[in-house]
Amino acid sequence: MATKETNPKGSGSGTKAKPCPPGGHKLKPDHPATDEELKDRINRASGAGDEAKKFEAKAARHNQNGILRREGSLKRDPKSPGDRSAVSGGTKAEEVGLRCEVCGQRVDGELDHVTEEKDGSVNAVECKTGAFPGLDQDQIERNTRQMERLRNLSENGTGVMYKVPKGTDAGPILKLAKQVGLVITKIIPV
Ligand SMILES: [Zn+2]
Repeated sequence: MATKETNPKGSGSGTKAKPCPPGGHKLKPDHPATDEELKDRINRASGAGDEAKKFEAKAARHNQNGILRREGSLKRDPKSPGDRSAVSGGTKAEEVGLRCEVCGQRVDGELDHVTEEKDGSVNAVECKTGAFPGLDQDQIERNTRQMERLRNLSENGTGVMYKVPKGTDAGPILKLAKQVGLVITKIIPV
């Protein structure tokens, strides 16, 4: 199912909230509907392709229990009825996006997956392979904007974890996080 760019709180109220002023959004993960088992979704996304996608799939398998716990909680949430996915698939409609809980606007960007710990805390997980923050100015720019969105998430109750291939130096991620003001919950080698 395609997600509209602006869809304040789904159906019901019939009122449209005014968009927030620049920088005013309060972002939360926006989970797409799904009717597939988690392992099938992960396998399909992994089959789609490149090394980055394959690592995302590996990281998601590593976190299967946390993802399933999150999807279970979403299912019980009366505000998000039905089966929802906490792991991004290969198409736009299957992405876990970011939506403002104040004005309802969906912003650019996706989350690789979202996990819930046994204590109920929720974390967005960003998987990083390759050079960080990037090989050229464009890539550095993109990674910086992404971290700013993640900072917004973390300021609004969703923690942020990074997963990197074993042996990766976490220094560059921590350095950019410090510049951007993002507090990372954990960096996990997978
Ligand atoms: Zn907003």
